[in-house]
Amino acid sequence: MNVESFPTVDILAIAAHRDDVEQTCGGTLLRMQSLGLKTGVLDLTRGEGGTRGTAEERGREAAQAAGILKLSWREALDLPDGRVENSYENRIKIVNVLRLLRPRVVILPYWAGRHPDHYTASTLGYEGCFLSGLAKLETGATPHRPFKIVYASLYADVRPSFAVDITAFAEQRFASLMAYRSQYVNQESGGALFVPEEEIRERTFALARHYGMLVGVRYAEPFVQKEVGLIEDLMLLPVASM
Ligand SMILES: [Zn+2]
Repeated sequence: MNVESFPTVDILAIAAHRDDVEQTCGGTLLRMQSLGLKTGVLDLTRGEGGTRGTAEERGREAAQAAGILKLSWREALDLPDGRVENSYENRIKIVNVLRLLRPRVVILPYWAGRHPDHYTASTLGYEGCFLSGLAKLETGATPHRPFKIVYASLYADVRPSFAVDITAFAEQRFASLMAYRSQYVNQESGGALFVPEEEIRERTFALARHYGMLVGVRYAEPFVQKEVGLIEDLMLLPVASM
């Protein structure tokens, strides 16, 4: 097998639904891409259970959003929408992707929240990352454990460990979310359930502004890391205290 032909990425974001990463870490993916890194997204479901749009329609929208986010790779697994389960079978599906793409950093959803798919995707993703590094787990591909896992915490009511400045990418991130026309463009069906586009814009930018203010920039995306950060030089700490 020609290893050179494998599509590797530096950073892989794993999320439950198509359009999740566009809301929680799309700006960060754009920023990393602008630094010359390769980024990818693994959506666990295909959106067949949604009120609006079919899985095929959402697949086309996800591909369009991938272009706007300048991703090197994006695929969706076939886990049932609304029924993401942390099973061994599903962990192995993630292991197969990790061993193919070999990301150094993995972004997962935060591990607590309202939607069961979101918090299940978090533990499922974590356990997939762990299993992927086990030499004795034979899948036909070389074991790979990501160096770092961070949790996108935009919708979690927690204090982030750090935030990424997405000021230069905020409009582009919003455009990637609006690629999901079946979900977000103003329309009649499901009107009581779905908020209009103007409202989503205001929410998206208000949240980004909130996290930006915490770190002294205009717009930012928040993340939680479980590990304590190691600092070599106090003179290089990035954010002013007052
Ligand atoms: Zn979601």
